[in-house]
Amino acid sequence: METVPGPAEVAGGVWSVALPFPNPLGFAFSYVLPVAGGVLVVDAGWDSAECWDAFRAGLAAAGAGLDDVVGVVVTHIHPDHYGLAERIRAASPAWIAVHPAERPRIAANRHDRERAIADLAEWLRQAGAPPSEFAELAADEEDIKARISTVVPERDLVDGQAVPGTDGALVAVHTPGHTPGHLCFHDRQRGLLFTGDHILPRVTPNISKRPQSDVDPLRDFMASVRKVRAFGDVTVLPGHERAFTGLWDRLDVLAAHHDERLTEIVAAVGAGAGTVWEVACAVRWSRPFERLQGRARRSAIGETFSHLYRLAVEGRVRWEPGRPDRWLPAREHVA
Ligand SMILES: [Zn+2]
Repeated sequence: METVPGPAEVAGGVWSVALPFPNPLGFAFSYVLPVAGGVLVVDAGWDSAECWDAFRAGLAAAGAGLDDVVGVVVTHIHPDHYGLAERIRAASPAWIAVHPAERPRIAANRHDRERAIADLAEWLRQAGAPPSEFAELAADEEDIKARISTVVPERDLVDGQAVPGTDGALVAVHTPGHTPGHLCFHDRQRGLLFTGDHILPRVTPNISKRPQSDVDPLRDFMASVRKVRAFGDVTVLPGHERAFTGLWDRLDVLAAHHDERLTEIVAAVGAGAGTVWEVACAVRWSRPFERLQGRARRSAIGETFSHLYRLAVEGRVRWEPGRPDRWLPAREHVA
C-alpha cells in the first residue's frame, strides 16, 4: 500500500485530496478547483467515514467548505471515483455531472444488482472459468456491487462540452475504454489534464470486456489514447498515483503494452489455449494468474477477453461463441 499523501496545491489554486480505499493503489484523488462562486470537485473518492473526513480536510486546506462546492464532475462511476458523490450533494449546493454512457451502470435498485450478478455468472461461463471459481468471484462481485452508488446525477457532460460555471475553461473530453462514459477534463487556462483512470503514470488501466462494458473496449481505449495526444504539453492529474508530465511518452508506453499483449495472446491461442480462462492462464500478469484473487482475477479475465475480441475483429484469431466461447488460430487448413 502506498502512504496516503496530505492535501497539496498542485497548480494555481488547484488542490489534490488523496482519499484512501482498500486496493493496492492505496488512494484515489479528488481535485478541488476554484471557480466563480466557489469550488468545483473532480472525482469523489470512496464512500467511508475516513474518506469523508479526509475530503472535508482537503476542502479546508483549499480554503473552502461544503457550502462552496458548486458541482462535482466525475470521470467515471467506479466506487473509488464516485463513492462520496451522494454525501457531498446532500451536504452542499452541488450538482453532479457524468457522461451519459455511465448512467446505465449506476445500480438504481436491488433488481438491477441481482441481474448484474447473474450477468457476471454467465460471463464466467462464457470465459470457461472452472466451477470452483464461481463462488469466490461472485461473492466478491456482490460486495463491489453493493458499493456502487445509486445516486443519479442531475447533469450530463458530453465530449467537448464546457463544465458549467467554468467560463469555458474546463472542457470534458470523452475517453471511453476503461468505462463506456469515461471523461477526462482539460483545464485550458492552467494547462492541466484530469485523466481519472484513463491515463495513470505507472499502472496500465484495466480494459475489460464484460457485462455492461463497450462491445469493443480495447478499440475504444486505443482511440482514446490517440485522442489525448492533442494535449501533449499538459500536467497530468490522474485518479491515482501522482501528477506527471510527459504525456506523449506515457501514451507510447500504453500503446506498446497493448500491442505486445495482443501478440502474446495470438501466440497463446496458437499454442492451444482455447478459452478466455486458458488464455488468461498463459499470459504474463503483474503476478502469476493463479495468484491473482477476486477482483484482480476478474480484471485479468476481462482484459484477456477485450484483447481476444479485438483480435477476432482483426481476423488474427477465430471466435466461436458458446458456453464456453472457443478461440482458435486464424488460419484454417481445409483438407
Ligand atoms: Zn480508479
